[in-house]
Amino acid sequence: MKTNGFLIIIAGPSGAGKSTVRKEIIKNKSLNLVYSISSTTRAKRRGEVDGKDYNFVSKDEFLREVKNNEFLEYASYCDNYYGTNKSFVDKLRKQGKNVVLEIDCTGVFQVLKKFKKSEIITFFIVPPSLEELEKRIRGRLTETEATLRGRLKRAKEELKLTDKFDYVIVNDRPERAAKEISTIIKNALALRG
Ligand code: ADP
Ligand code: 5GP
Repeated sequence: MKTNGFLIIIAGPSGAGKSTVRKEIIKNKSLNLVYSISSTTRAKRRGEVDGKDYNFVSKDEFLREVKNNEFLEYASYCDNYYGTNKSFVDKLRKQGKNVVLEIDCTGVFQVLKKFKKSEIITFFIVPPSLEELEKRIRGRLTETEATLRGRLKRAKEELKLTDKFDYVIVNDRPERAAKEISTIIKNALALRG
């Protein structure tokens, strides 16, 4: 029988570069990673693809899935819901894939309660500074002034939680940060054998 894959968690404030770094890590085929596509009620951004970046669903649909216990974890983040599909993650882990969850901190704590610590590696991505974080969110051209303020407020709260994570990674350059994470995952895979 195959050993279940790891759960690799990537968290950190909005705009820190989680998606950018995650896409870079997943390119490394030797790590056997697969991205857990979350469901969200937030509006699709320019360039995002339904079923690839997220499963974009209505609030009614999301709440129906909550009621049916379909989420491994879920959270409300800046007026929208986000959740991890339980059966998707279970199926891939059973195939031996290491599943990458890119989720907020409240979601991370829910996941940590459900699995053995030996099954999980947690990363918290930080920007070089708060000024740079704001610059990155603005540069993405996805937010209104109001949603930007909400995300920055949430960022300050999340940045107090770094000590809850196995590794804190400064995203100065995406390729460098991705390499740091990839090396950690590679070593964890080698140790498990
Ligand atoms: P998150 O997923 O954490 O919200 P994104 O990956 O969407 O963040 O990155 C936010 C913005 O910052 C994007 O426009 C992205 O291209 C840019 N970005 C990501 N990493 C860096 C970096 N190391 N230096 C400069 N810009 C970056
Ligand atoms: P964004 O709207 O920028 O894509 O995501 C906002 C926040 O929601 C980010 O912190 C992101 O990691 C988080 N997020 C995305 N998917 C999930 C999920 O399935 N569960 C939880 N708890 N958070 C998620």
